[in-house]
Amino acid sequence: MSEGKNGIEAFIAGLPKAELHVHHVGSASPRVVAELAARHRGQSKVPTDPAALAEYFTFTDFAHFIEVYLSVVDLIRDAEDVRALTYGVAEDMARQQIRYAELTITPYSSVSRGIPDVAFMEAIEDARKSAEKDLGVVLRWCFDIPGEAGLAAAEETARLAVDLAPEGLVSFGLGGPEIGVPRPQFKPYFDRARAAGLHSVPHAGESTGPETVWDALRVLGAERIGHGTQSVKDPSLMDWLGEHRIPLEVCPTSNLATRVVERIEEHPLKQMVDAGLLVTINSDDPPMFGTDLNTEYAVAARLLDLDETGVAGLAKNAVEASFLDTPGKARLAAEIDTYLAGWDKG
Ligand SMILES: [Zn+2]
Repeated sequence: MSEGKNGIEAFIAGLPKAELHVHHVGSASPRVVAELAARHRGQSKVPTDPAALAEYFTFTDFAHFIEVYLSVVDLIRDAEDVRALTYGVAEDMARQQIRYAELTITPYSSVSRGIPDVAFMEAIEDARKSAEKDLGVVLRWCFDIPGEAGLAAAEETARLAVDLAPEGLVSFGLGGPEIGVPRPQFKPYFDRARAAGLHSVPHAGESTGPETVWDALRVLGAERIGHGTQSVKDPSLMDWLGEHRIPLEVCPTSNLATRVVERIEEHPLKQMVDAGLLVTINSDDPPMFGTDLNTEYAVAARLLDLDETGVAGLAKNAVEASFLDTPGKARLAAEIDTYLAGWDKG
């Protein structure tokens, strides 16, 4: 490892950051998952010790990832599980100098398993307020439709987002597998969420091609794209994304873990940046993919051959692409600039 690389990793570790694409249950660290598994021992196939969990989290393909993910979802049984998970995720963010995160939550998974909807909202809001007060981590929510669960799940997610909208909710999303789950069928639910003032941030162009991204933009009114990595296959889409400054939430290690790319060197990140797109770096389901946001920034720095100024630029892209208000954006961007200036002085 070169001295330069050590330097950039130290820079990243202290850099104030925003994260825009990270899943609630998928952020549960092995410690939190082991605790939940132990609490519900005998009712789940998820191992309870961290070493066995690491092995359990080694995926063969995207379908296998979804299967493991859902088995962890099944460990969230009551409001206290929800609160503990959410606060635990914020603690891991604070350790990485993440100041602001839009956490993607799938309330349908918990509510359909019997957690009362109002108790669920109270649990996440309680964790959000504690995280901001105790840890200085500002959390906002994106409620997403689990695409694999069909239109009943979409209807319920829209109801929860519109009728019970917790204070921290800013956006509406769509996750799960893309293959066999066409985006346009979700239009009525996105229409309702957008009419209620929520931003549209569906996953698209992760495991299927650029036409899924076009659907997300044209049919679901996407303001940001979750992943969108397959956009590089369509030059006219790349032009459109650049012209309209639609941010992409890129998650390099996730794409490797789910075998969307075979080798990290084949990741289209550089192509997207070279085309002038507004690219943000994110961790998706970090402990499940053996990563965290700092590691993703280091991967991006290597793929893009960035110095400290370049890495700070990526962090500022996330601030720009966030749904923070204007003063909040200015504050966080200034914090990044101050950190960079201090680092340059040595
Ligand atoms: Zn995701």
